Amino acid sequence: MSRVLVIGCGGVASVAIRKCCQADDVFTELCIASRTKSKCDALAASLAGKTKTKITTAQVDADDVEQLKALISGYKPDLVMNIALPYQDLTIMDACLACGVNYMDTANYEPEDTDDPEWRAIYEKRCKEKGFSAYFDYSWQWAYREKFEQAGLTALLGCGFDPGVTQAYCAYAKKHEFDTIDTIDILDCNGGDHGYPFATNFNPEVNLREVSAPGSYMENGKWVEIPAMSIKREYDFEDVGPKDMYLLHHEEIESLAVNIPEVKRIRFFMTFGQSYLTHMRCLEDVGMLSTTPVNFEGHEIVPIKFLKALLPDPASLGPRTRGKTNIGCIFTGKKDGQEKKYYIYNVCDHQECYREVESQAISYTTGVPAMCGAMMLLTGKWNKPGVYTVEEFDPDPFLDALDRFGLPRRESWNPVLVD
Ligand code: NDP
Repeated sequence: MSRVLVIGCGGVASVAIRKCCQADDVFTELCIASRTKSKCDALAASLAGKTKTKITTAQVDADDVEQLKALISGYKPDLVMNIALPYQDLTIMDACLACGVNYMDTANYEPEDTDDPEWRAIYEKRCKEKGFSAYFDYSWQWAYREKFEQAGLTALLGCGFDPGVTQAYCAYAKKHEFDTIDTIDILDCNGGDHGYPFATNFNPEVNLREVSAPGSYMENGKWVEIPAMSIKREYDFEDVGPKDMYLLHHEEIESLAVNIPEVKRIRFFMTFGQSYLTHMRCLEDVGMLSTTPVNFEGHEIVPIKFLKALLPDPASLGPRTRGKTNIGCIFTGKKDGQEKKYYIYNVCDHQECYREVESQAISYTTGVPAMCGAMMLLTGKWNKPGVYTVEEFDPDPFLDALDRFGLPRRESWNPVLVD
């Protein structure tokens, strides 16, 4: 028996909500609240009669803590699932603290306005001190640790696939496969084709900010930063085939380096096709990825927001995307004094996802872990007061839930390593 408030009703939230409704013994009551209430109402209507979960909807501007507090104190949920955008992480955490409710999200905080001088001063100091220049980092949300501890509440950060499942894979490798882990390579392959020359498969603004930023990896406790897309490898992915992949900065590297400190090197690679890269470079060169407002014929517009309006809605890619994703982690290390390697990953088919939940595999591979993470919190398996990332919890019940709800693990003890 539980009451859950989901904030956001986009591509990822729609999958998470549909999957919650498949587990209606755990998710007995659900309120879907977002900026555009009509999307929540349409999703609720499409689920009517198909689940025992009692669904209600609400309108909320999640940038406004007072509105959030009114909604949360009125609905009285056991958990708030933030599946809006990373920009809303802190306001929703504040409201959860004020109302005494557990919190989770799928991406770590970054500000919508990266020109805000107050934020920029802290950001520039962090770039110098830590050595990576992505707009997002965990410091903002880790700063809430004591407050959540004192309130006896749990905040679970970044419970999608990557971040999320990739960290559960790391915790699983540490628990079952290795005494010490030396290296971790996280490989995110999307072998899907939607037929458009250029589209992003999750929120375009967040996606393009992430992939156009300099890459970085952790080596011997230090960040090494490289120009965007300057380290490329080819990897032959099971059920997908050979793909070019590029080293990116990614948020889970930061928490894994803290929580599994013995690891000597952590890298993250993502596959991109030539068409995506060429379009992205061109858009960047002409200023379309900028978050700084420009005046156009008397109107102030933010170039990347305007671009988002032109690009296909990621939620609309479902029916046209064919192919598979293959995401996982390759480890090297030692067990019982012997050198060892291990690969744990999931393969997910875009069309199968569409048939099940009317969505492509990127939203699916994020929405299912969000639902399984919520299930861990609601069933008491992952509760401890404070602010945590996925690798800080027992991976076993979570991976069992993923096996059961559509993202089964595969394993190999002899993978090809990335050089
Ligand atoms: P979408 O843009 O499809 O959906 C975002 C939703 O949030 C929309 O319903 C939007 O409302 C709502 N929203 C935005 N701003 C507000 C606001 N101020 N108040 C209330 N609601 C708001 O994004 P995605 O579903 O693609 O992504 C959702 C999250 O998942 C993002 O944080 C993304 O970074 C993360 N993600 C994580 C991954 C992982 O593996 N960990 C992978 C992919 C995504 P409206 O309809 O009005 O626009």
